[in-house]
Amino acid sequence: MRLTILGSGTNLHPTRAAAGYLVRTDQTILLDFGPRTLVNLLKTGVNRHRITHILFSHYHADHFSDFITYFFDAMIFTKYQGGTRPPLTVIGPRGTKKFFQALFTTMPGFAHAPFPVHFKEVADRAFTIGKTTVIPRTVTHTQNLHCLGYRIEYGGKALAYSGDSQYCDSLVRLCGDVDLAVLDCSFPASRPSPVHLHAGQCGQVAKEAGVGTLVLSHFYPITERYNVREQAGEAYGGKIVVARDLMSIKL
Ligand SMILES: [Zn+2]
Ligand SMILES: [Zn+2]
Repeated sequence: MRLTILGSGTNLHPTRAAAGYLVRTDQTILLDFGPRTLVNLLKTGVNRHRITHILFSHYHADHFSDFITYFFDAMIFTKYQGGTRPPLTVIGPRGTKKFFQALFTTMPGFAHAPFPVHFKEVADRAFTIGKTTVIPRTVTHTQNLHCLGYRIEYGGKALAYSGDSQYCDSLVRLCGDVDLAVLDCSFPASRPSPVHLHAGQCGQVAKEAGVGTLVLSHFYPITERYNVREQAGEAYGGKIVVARDLMSIKL
């Protein structure tokens, strides 16, 4: 299994794309699709027309908006450039079907793409894509918004992605004994937000869950001024990686 970070920043960040991750197993899967991550996806050399599954944690724009550009490109490719592509399955939390129905009936042409598109709402039940197991888990982010973290298991390895999350038991369970966890490190411990983890809490989750390698990601611009590795390391003694765009990690 290989993880490539397409975006380690947030909505508007001067040097980092927003949330997006490429996971390669027997499948090529995207986790979130925030602004500027599509250009980074091109830079990985992966054929974007072979992506079959996109998993969304929630629909804050910093996790979603490049989907629109991606899908428009896929339509042009298949309609006017003689291209073909496999069906696309979009997976996400409660509200996914309603959200995409509104989007696809509003964006010109989206409802008439010449390839099948499937939408699937998931909650706390495991499913498989080929030989890859995906375990979504509800995490606490903002009020009244269903947000998911994902655990992906393949070839005896496990990876967890928090999506956007506060500290919660559910997140600790999601990360239980994983080889690698990518956590929402939006803010430094000294400038916490009520709806995101801060660096100290990332370390706490990693310690409680017994994580192998902790990857800190999803930085707000202000967070660049603080030593998040040191803050996370106060609770957690394992390996800490501060994410960069296009960083690739083999599990
Ligand atoms: Zn969010
Ligand atoms: Zn976010």
